[in-house]
Amino acid sequence: MPGTLYVVATPIGNLEDITHRALRVLREVDLIACEDTRHTRKLLNHYGIKTKVTSYHDHNERERTVELLQALASGRNVAIVSDAGTPSISDPGFRLVSDAGAQGIPVVALPGPTALIAALVASGLPTDEFFFAGFLPARSGERRARLTKLRELPATLIFYEAPHRIAAALRDAREILGERKAVVARELTKIHEEIARGRLSELAEQFGSDERARGEIVLLIDRTPMESEKDVGEVRTIATLVAGFEEEGLDHRAALKKAARELGLSRDEAYRRLVAERGN
Ligand code: SAM
Repeated sequence: MPGTLYVVATPIGNLEDITHRALRVLREVDLIACEDTRHTRKLLNHYGIKTKVTSYHDHNERERTVELLQALASGRNVAIVSDAGTPSISDPGFRLVSDAGAQGIPVVALPGPTALIAALVASGLPTDEFFFAGFLPARSGERRARLTKLRELPATLIFYEAPHRIAAALRDAREILGERKAVVARELTKIHEEIARGRLSELAEQFGSDERARGEIVLLIDRTPMESEKDVGEVRTIATLVAGFEEEGLDHRAALKKAARELGLSRDEAYRRLVAERGN
């Protein structure tokens, strides 16, 4: 009989945010695969758990998956945890879970904290439909292209963002998506927890200073532009994309080609729209 792979959610800041079941499973399994063993040991020490740990992160995922699958196949129970929140959500875990499932190894999820859900429910933005888009690309051109793809989605948009990029992300979102309600949820469950609500442009200004833009951040954006701004997001799509790629160093031709590809348009159609937008 193979063992069971437990996917265990751990706190995103406040050590009290862990379930009784998670603590029992972490105590009872044969091995805990952690993103960073030192980090997880702090949690385990806090709860007096002495289970053996091994590292499982982006750089050793492939080899470690093979070893962990062997352990599971030989009947040992394994738990996977990440540094914070739910494994496999913008964190390692997906490969192991996917391969374990494919080999018929039982996989059991122990639900618990994940920053995107905590941020969503505290945001006050609609929760009936939402889309988690992970981290936005670091470069402005790629980021604008990604935002352009998400523009028509009728769902609250949720992103993880690094503090040094939040102001730029808010500015690009304002430009591509139009003025919308948004929320910056910062340091959730920690001492400096903050839920900042406002328009994209207001938040871009607030988080423009280094002092505000610290800590761990979830960015949430409403599904549609605000009533008075409905058409702002409709114009300048190609023009802003092309400008973004040009800022990154591409010449005009290459920038247009890349923007066309991102939007799934032919180059002729992209050119036609660019001329139309610039005529506005
Ligand atoms: N697996 C985690 C989860 O379930 O939320 C996410 C890990 S991802 C590598 C780290 C990102 O999650 C941070 O950069 C931040 O965007 C978000 N995050 C994690 N903890 C947070 C917190 N306490 N407050 C706000 N955002 C947080």
